[in-house]
Amino acid sequence: MEIITGKTKLLGVMGDPIEHSLSPVMHNAAIQALGLDYVYIPFAVKSELLPQALAGLQALGVQGFNVTIPHKQTIINLLSEVSPLAQQVGATNTVWLTPSGWAGTNTDVEGFLTPLRKLNRPWSEIKPLVLGYGGAARAVVVGLIELGCPEIRVIGRNPEKLSSFAANWSQVRAYPTTSLPQLLRETELLVNTTPIGMYPHGEQSPLEADLVTLVQPGAIVYDLIYTPNPTKLLSDSQKQGAIALDGLEMLVNQGAIALEIWLQSPVPVEIMRQSLRNYLGL
Ligand code: NAP
Repeated sequence: MEIITGKTKLLGVMGDPIEHSLSPVMHNAAIQALGLDYVYIPFAVKSELLPQALAGLQALGVQGFNVTIPHKQTIINLLSEVSPLAQQVGATNTVWLTPSGWAGTNTDVEGFLTPLRKLNRPWSEIKPLVLGYGGAARAVVVGLIELGCPEIRVIGRNPEKLSSFAANWSQVRAYPTTSLPQLLRETELLVNTTPIGMYPHGEQSPLEADLVTLVQPGAIVYDLIYTPNPTKLLSDSQKQGAIALDGLEMLVNQGAIALEIWLQSPVPVEIMRQSLRNYLGL
């Protein structure tokens, strides 16, 4: 996008708040590198105005948009078509216009899986351990099921919320926090979906010093947080000999897959990654 013209096509991201979103940075970097006449802009939309926003974006000819907190789950009921994957997660983060209205899917799942697939492990023998049971954990669990993991172990601080989360998928087993030491000794893949350790609390970690020593050498530790980079969890785990995966990879890959859906052509993933690294000063 060199200049905005009368022909410029619109993409964007919808959420509340939206000021923190990094999506405009990486999508506009990709659009510019591809030399396309598109622009990707933020839309701040209050929950009670979501139906009006969808009608308005359609009337304005917006081609597609990402969806973030707090609309990922509620938007599902307002779409004319929802992919089976998004139904399985119970959330949509990517929407595009069809002749019959807005259609949606979930690219967080494949964005989460992209760096894992490169590691080529015997997934059907691995029982991952997931910390937290919020929105991101839903995409993580569906991704791990997709990968072929036979059992997904989830730990969280509120037993009621944890068991209601686990009830959604037969492969998920809920464990009390007291099981953490034993599960860490056994696990080959640990995923943090809690915000513990996220900026401005980079000194924190979901694993205290005594627990992180139980992370096994060679285990994969995947933290969905992307600032700071690396998080304390990742740097502590690397000291134990673990392989660290950071949230920036999930963020970049979910965005790249969304852009491919809208453009129906390959996108420059490395440019998207680099634009975020530059923006974040990494
Ligand atoms: P969410 O829906 O609010 O879920 C947060 C989860 O963490 C809940 O299970 C919550 O439990 C738990 N939690 C929060 N504070 C905790 C604490 N002090 N101790 C123990 N558990 C705690 O948030 P989300 O949308 O899933 O996002 C979670 C994290 O993932 C954020 O850091 C976000 O930036 C990151 N994320 C990254 C990407 C990416 O592309 N890399 C995508 C999505 C999310 P309670 O319900 O009991 O509070």
